[in-house]
Amino acid sequence: MSARGQREWFAGATDVGLIRSGNEDSWLAEPPLFAVADGLGGHQAGEVASSIALEVLVEETPATPDINALDQAVQAANLAVMDAAREGKGRSGMGTTLTAVVLDGTRLLVSHVGDSRAYLFHDGELVRVTQDHSMVADMIREGTLTEEEARYHPNRSVITRALGTNPEMLPDTFETVASRGDRLLLSTDGLHGQVTDPEIADIVRNAASPSDAAKALVSAANDAGGVDNVTVIVVDIGETSRGTAATTAAESSARRKEASGQLARTWIARAAWVVAAVSVVAIAWFGFQYWVYSQAFLRVDSQGKVAIYTGVAEDFAGLRLSRLAQPTEVVVEKLPVNLQGKLTSSQGVKQSSLAEARQTVAEYERLASISSSGTVDPTTPTLTEPAPAPSTTTTP
Ligand code: MG
Repeated sequence: MSARGQREWFAGATDVGLIRSGNEDSWLAEPPLFAVADGLGGHQAGEVASSIALEVLVEETPATPDINALDQAVQAANLAVMDAAREGKGRSGMGTTLTAVVLDGTRLLVSHVGDSRAYLFHDGELVRVTQDHSMVADMIREGTLTEEEARYHPNRSVITRALGTNPEMLPDTFETVASRGDRLLLSTDGLHGQVTDPEIADIVRNAASPSDAAKALVSAANDAGGVDNVTVIVVDIGETSRGTAATTAAESSARRKEASGQLARTWIARAAWVVAAVSVVAIAWFGFQYWVYSQAFLRVDSQGKVAIYTGVAEDFAGLRLSRLAQPTEVVVEKLPVNLQGKLTSSQGVKQSSLAEARQTVAEYERLASISSSGTVDPTTPTLTEPAPAPSTTTTP
C-alpha cells in the first residue's frame, strides 16, 4: 500500500487478497498518467504481462495530453506483451487488462481494454466511465444476465479483450470531462468483482482523502472474501490535478474564450468601421444630391417651350443630375434672340433655386407677351440680362 503526491490528491493501493499466492496486478500513478492492469496467465506470467504493459505505457505516453498518443501507447503495450512472450519472458498466452487515464485538469483521456474499470464519483453518485470487455458484460448488455447474476457467474472472469493476445487489438480510447471535486477511481476486478457499486460509492463518499478511500476499498474487497488480487487508484479532480500537463482544460478553455472574445471584438471594430464608412458615403451622396437638386435651370423642351429643371444641366461621371420640375407655356421662339440661344444650349439658363426659376419664367411670360402684342407693360420689369461691361478701365 502506498500513497504519493505532495498534497495527497491521489493514492493507489494494491493487495494480493486472501486466496492467491501472488499479485499479478500492477498500477502506476505518474501524473498526468494513471493506470491499473490485471495480469492473466498464472505462475507469475500475469505479473510479467501487467508490469510490461505499464512500463511501455509510461514510456510511450507523452506528458502533454494527447488522445491519439495515448491510444498508440496502449497498442504499443499490447505488442510489447506479445513480444515478451515470444522472447520467453513470462509465458505464451499471458495477457493483461489495462485501464489508463491521462488527466488534463478536469478533462480525462481514457484508454481501456478488459474488465478493469474507471469510475467517476460525481455529485454523490458513482458513474462507470468504462465498459467491461467480458463475457458477462456482453450478456448483461444483451439482457440475458443481471449485474447480480454476473457476480456469481462461472464465466465471470472470462474477458473478451486483453493485451497480449491479438496484434490487431484496439483499445476503447475516448475523452470525457469530470468536474472539480469529482473523484476518479481506477480498479481491477478484485474490487468491483467483490464489492458492489453502491458499496464502493459509500466508501468513496465517506473517505476524507484519496489514501483513506484506497485503503478502505482494499479492506472492503478482502472483507468480501479477498478471492482475487485487488488494486485501486483514487484521484481527486481539482486544484492539484494539473500534473505535468502544460495547461489545464479550464485554463485553455479560458484562453480560447479570451481569444474568441478578441476575435469578436476585432470583427465588431471592423464592422463598425464599415458602417461608419458606408454612412459617410451615404451622407455625402445624399448631401450632394440635396445640393444638386436644390439648384435649377431653364431649358427648351421638346415642344419648343421653356421648361424648369431641377439639378444641374451638366452630367456628372455619366450620371444625369437633372429632372423636369415643371413645364411652361412660354414658347422659346417668342423670346429675345439672345435668350433663345441660351435656352436652346445644353447648359440652359442656370438658376440658383426653383423659386428663382419660377420668377424668371414669369418674366419670360411678360417678354413673350411683349413680343406678341408689341407693347410694353410699364409695370413689368424687363428681364435683366446684364449689359456687357464697358471695356475701358479707369485709372486714378
Ligand atoms: Mg483480477
